[in-house]
Amino acid sequence: MTDVTIDQLTDWLRRFQVLVTEHQTELTELDSVIGDADHGANMTRGMNAVAAKLDSEEFESVAELFKAVGMTLVTSVGGASGPLYGTFFLRFGMNAGAVTTLDAAGTAASLRAGLGGIVARGKAEQGDKTMFDAMSPAIDAWDAAVAAGESAAQASAAALAAAEVGRDATIPLVARKGRASYLGDRSAGHLDPGAASTTLLFRALSDALGE
Ligand code: ADP
Ligand code: MG
Ligand code: MG
Repeated sequence: MTDVTIDQLTDWLRRFQVLVTEHQTELTELDSVIGDADHGANMTRGMNAVAAKLDSEEFESVAELFKAVGMTLVTSVGGASGPLYGTFFLRFGMNAGAVTTLDAAGTAASLRAGLGGIVARGKAEQGDKTMFDAMSPAIDAWDAAVAAGESAAQASAAALAAAEVGRDATIPLVARKGRASYLGDRSAGHLDPGAASTTLLFRALSDALGE
């Protein structure tokens, strides 16, 4: 079974930058309803800084690549999403280690480590109406695909589908974490912006792996 290469992981990041830029207005509109109308700008600023880093440096390993990406996001984005996505990528790289390829199971383990970083930082649980609600089912779907013997490309397509379902399931929820939680019950009825950007993250990964 073909492994995921460092070039494909770099392509994942570049595709995520393109997608958040394309969806900047939409992400900001979602955040204007239950937050402070900056999620699109935060993600675009952060991923533009990541793209500049990718242009200017060579990375010898997955660990090095994602350390640079994570640090760039943590330092370039002021909002909650910068440290959260930054920690996700830092932990992803730490789990992957000094390698240049990952198999489907190793990719799943690194994604799960990244999610662990988000939880360590933001303490979100399922149903809190955050990016967790798209990411956690996506990684569960990835694991199920790996257990069924599927390739990383097939697993990434299953993960994307699960992220979309998780994203849409945030609509009726009352937010319990982040700025949206300040609204209490008034946060219900609206899609969580971070769940929307996390779905773009999994779309970018699925696109990069070629499904
Ligand atoms: P800010 O809220 O600081 O303006 P952003 O608008 O960029 O930051 O990001 C908001 C998103 O971050 C939310 O939609 C939510 O998905 C996510 N988020 C906020 N707090 C948490 C948390 N504690 N755990 C996980 N995700 C969170
Ligand atoms: Mg915001
Ligand atoms: Mg903000």
